[in-house]
Amino acid sequence: MIKLEKINKWYGENHVLKDVDFEVARGEVVVVCGPSGSGKSTLIRTINRLEPIQGGSIHVNGQDVYQKGLNINKLREGIGFVFQQFNLFPHMTVLDNVLFAPVSIQKKSRKEATATAHALLERVGLAHKVDAYPGNLSGGQQQRVAIARALALQPPVMLFDEPTSALDPEMVGEVLQVMKSLAKDGMTMVCVTHEMGFARDVSDRVVFMDGGAIIESNTPERFFTAPEHPRAQRFLQDIL
Ligand code: ADP
Ligand code: MG
Repeated sequence: MIKLEKINKWYGENHVLKDVDFEVARGEVVVVCGPSGSGKSTLIRTINRLEPIQGGSIHVNGQDVYQKGLNINKLREGIGFVFQQFNLFPHMTVLDNVLFAPVSIQKKSRKEATATAHALLERVGLAHKVDAYPGNLSGGQQQRVAIARALALQPPVMLFDEPTSALDPEMVGEVLQVMKSLAKDGMTMVCVTHEMGFARDVSDRVVFMDGGAIIESNTPERFFTAPEHPRAQRFLQDIL
C-alpha cells in the first residue's frame, strides 16, 4: 500500500533522510518511534508530499506520489493525516469541520455528506458535540474530531504524527482507543508515537529511526523483548 525506496532528503546541509526504504502492506499498522530529530515527522510527511525530497520514490496505492504534474489535492484525498496539533478550523462547528473536505473538495451535497459525517462523529464518540466549536472542546475531543475529519474522504491510508503528544495524560486513552478501533477494522496505518502500550498491543510492526535512517524494523514482540540494535535498546531503557 505504501512503498518508499531510497528516500533522501536534506534541509540545507542537514541530511535528514538517508536512503530510507520503507514498506507498509494493506491493512498493516506500523508504529514509527525513535529519538527527537531522528526524522520521523519528515518521513511520514513525505508520504503525502508535504515535503520535497531530493532522491528516491514513493508509491501509495500504486500512485507515484512525486510524479510531475500530479494533482496533489487528489493524492491527499486518499491519505488521511492527523497532526500533533489538531489544526481544526476554529470558526467552524465540529460538524462543519468534518463536512469541509467532502463538500468543498469532493463536491458532495451537504445532505449526502452530513449522514457520513454524523456516522464518523458517532464512531469517535462525539455525536453529542456536532454543534460545538473546537474552542469549547477538550484536547482529546478535538483530536477525535481531527480523526473524523481525516476519515471523511474515506482514505485507504491514515498517517498519524504524534497524535497524543499535545494532550493532557488523561485524554491520551480516548484517542488511542479510536486509533485502535480503526486498526481493528483493517485500516492501513503509520503512526509516529511514543505510546509503547499502543505499539505493543495494536501494531503489527515497530520501526525505529535514528539519525535519518530506519535502523530496526521488528514485530512488537521482538522489539520490546529483544531489540536488536543497541540504540533501540537504549531508547527503550530510557522511555520504559
Ligand atoms: P522527529 O519527528 O523524529 O523529531 P523531524 O523529522 O522533525 O524529526 O526532524 C528531522 C531533522 O530535520 C532534525 O534535524 C530537524 O531539526 C530537521 N528539520 C525538521 N523540520 C525542518 C524544517 N522545516 N527546516 C529545517 N530543518 C528541519
Ligand atoms: Mg516529529
